[in-house]
Amino acid sequence: MKVIKFGGSSLANAQQLQKVLAIVQADAERKIVVVSAPGKRDARDKKVTDLLIEFAKLVAEEAPYESVYQTILERYREIVIELHLAESIMQTIEKHFEKLLRTSFYSESLREDAFKASGEDCHAKLIAAYFAESGLNARYMNPKDAGIFVTSTPGNAQILPESYNFLAQLRSTEEVLVIPGFFGYNEKDEIITFSRGGSDITGAIVANGVQADVYENFTDVDAIYVANPNHVEEPKKIHQLTYSEMRELSYSGFSVFHDEALLPAFSSGIPVHVKNTNNPNGQGTMITRSRPRTDHILSGIASSSGFISIHISKYLMNREIGFIRRAAEIFEDLGLLLEHLPSGIDEMTIILRRDQLTPGKQAALLYRLKNELQADDVHIEANICLLMLVGEGMVQSVGTTARAAQALADAGINLLMINQGSSEISIMFGIDEKYEAKAVQAIYGAFF
Ligand code: ASP
Repeated sequence: MKVIKFGGSSLANAQQLQKVLAIVQADAERKIVVVSAPGKRDARDKKVTDLLIEFAKLVAEEAPYESVYQTILERYREIVIELHLAESIMQTIEKHFEKLLRTSFYSESLREDAFKASGEDCHAKLIAAYFAESGLNARYMNPKDAGIFVTSTPGNAQILPESYNFLAQLRSTEEVLVIPGFFGYNEKDEIITFSRGGSDITGAIVANGVQADVYENFTDVDAIYVANPNHVEEPKKIHQLTYSEMRELSYSGFSVFHDEALLPAFSSGIPVHVKNTNNPNGQGTMITRSRPRTDHILSGIASSSGFISIHISKYLMNREIGFIRRAAEIFEDLGLLLEHLPSGIDEMTIILRRDQLTPGKQAALLYRLKNELQADDVHIEANICLLMLVGEGMVQSVGTTARAAQALADAGINLLMINQGSSEISIMFGIDEKYEAKAVQAIYGAFF
């Protein structure tokens, strides 16, 4: 059996829902359908989830919310009218929100999660009604009834292991079950959402729980591309990737598939098939544990801006036991997540995401690093882009770094850092953000 997940753009309006119905009807093995909230209908539109966040904030501030509330209802109403669905579904949705507005919450983050989750929840009810009215033996299933139990970390839920035993019981379903993505329930029966884009995570968890033969992830692109189409014109498509390659690519900018969604698929070895709702017969991209070799050394080139590096130097640093631990503790105290730590003999560089560092934290960090570590010098370099070259093929080939570095040199791009993991499936270059597009183009030109 197959678990199939549709993203927000695949569910944004009535025409898209008609395509979704046809896709589900086309294959009797597509038994569990996980859905997102309605996404953008065009580039200027807003996602329902973003509207719900606004809605929750206004309610919390006791500010007028009627306008955003009506905009949200309108998104569903438009679909109900265009698909000629029974008016009762709109009543169900309105009742859902009325109840939500009457509920008191222990914290604002719990309120926000309950509001955010409504986007998926209401849409799953609407879609199940549409499927049933179109003759499919389908019904809505709440994540609690499915057995999706999570930690109490609003906006960042983690699945609890017992969920998988409950989910296993859905494997024998005769009906098509429509499950809203993006949230589960904690032990107090409160709604907790996964991180943004988390319907992918629900889909992967369900696929693992029912031991699906494949997890189909429908989105709005034909495949995952070798490089970001905003940087490279018509990049080649990737038809097969390993979980590890996908992980490296999604870390540094490939957003087609949520990085946290890989773990449930990876741990059970379930293939993930990324496909296009607007072209369901296209080949798509298959993500599996291993893949056949191809002529290409690289599978993909990713890039991500918004990093800073902190350089610490101290004469004879390499002889000081515990130096790295003491440095890392300072970051930990300030709640800063470290991304990479390339190091020299008497110097180390710590790379982190810029958006974590408020001016107050930055001042405290520099002060503590300099004084507590007795460092000779501590300074920050901002505006760093990490360029990631990913491919299982690198293990068997010689000279990949040389070729990439030459391509960047020919393009006049200075390398601030080079880092290669011991698994040899990725090489990372740190460059100035302003060269991001140029660097991706140079690497693409050299390898594809
Ligand atoms: N609707 C949620 C979001 O926009 C989750 C998802 O679409 O996967 O983040």
